[in-house]
Amino acid sequence: MPKTGFVYHTDYLGHDTRDHPENSNRLRAILEALNGSKLIEELVLIQPTNASLEQIGYVHQSQYIKEVETVSGTEGWLDGDTPVCRNSYKAALLAAGGLINATDAVLKGEVDNAFALVRPPGHHAEPNSGMGFCLFNNVAIAARYLQKEKGLERILIIDWDVHHGNGTQDAFYDDPSVLYISTHQSPLYPGTGAINEIGLGKGLGYTVNVPLLAGTGDMSYSYVMDEVITPISLEFNPDFVLVSAGFDCHHADPLAGMNVTSNVFGDFTEAIKSIAKKACGKLVLTLEGGYNLRALSSSVLCVFNSLLESGMEIEEPYLTPEDRLSDPVKSRVKEVKMAQREYWGI
Ligand SMILES: [Zn+2]
Repeated sequence: MPKTGFVYHTDYLGHDTRDHPENSNRLRAILEALNGSKLIEELVLIQPTNASLEQIGYVHQSQYIKEVETVSGTEGWLDGDTPVCRNSYKAALLAAGGLINATDAVLKGEVDNAFALVRPPGHHAEPNSGMGFCLFNNVAIAARYLQKEKGLERILIIDWDVHHGNGTQDAFYDDPSVLYISTHQSPLYPGTGAINEIGLGKGLGYTVNVPLLAGTGDMSYSYVMDEVITPISLEFNPDFVLVSAGFDCHHADPLAGMNVTSNVFGDFTEAIKSIAKKACGKLVLTLEGGYNLRALSSSVLCVFNSLLESGMEIEEPYLTPEDRLSDPVKSRVKEVKMAQREYWGI
């Protein structure tokens, strides 16, 4: 059985957003589900430490870092969707740091893979602004950390959150050393992530967007994984694989309209584990969205079930929706291949 780590700290609950959808009950629900399952006995806790300001600065401008600290002190809002309280700045440093700690644990061989259960989430955060519930872009900071401090060259970021990770895309848009692949619902917030957003200059082809219509289900997601994500990822041959794991594409999520079940997140993890195994053996996931607490916690259990290879049956919390491989998804995949075929052998 592989050794799997998880990052968690009660200070993540200190980012207290009250009845906002991205609130601390999300982590409470995940921990409760883990504690109620046998999986917790197999997991290794990775204690998080704060990211340094220099590390946050790998992605964010110093003026913006200061703004997060100041606005947290006054319990204000970074944008219309993103409230902060007095402990938010501290929690955001610990979220970015926790993901860095998880990558360290994998690099040192202390664990084989890990999942950082951190908040606030990160993938919407831009170099100079916070948005969409995100303060610092945890996954982008970890990618730069691996390059700058650990000397790794090629980092793969797969983002299966239902929203497009505009901040992560922007951080690496002209950079061929970080391949960013996103599946997301479109149209939906934040409105970016079109098929023809494929990178810039030397980064052309190193941004891969697969926008999907509302109602896309498990079989169609798996088709995208097999036809687009896996072949491009293997051709890129990463030195480290990071995943922006959002669970808001679950069919019960209140903020989106996809048709995915909890168990498909285990399938995604299997597929990405296989990519990582063939390329570098290094895989760390980080929590992004997911706002139905039952769906979120059962989906996270499915991810850990796959990481640990424990073969447990995880119960779906809701009736499974009808599913089929849809024609719009097949034609969407064709369009993505057309847009990317100059850069990849797909
Ligand atoms: Zn999301």
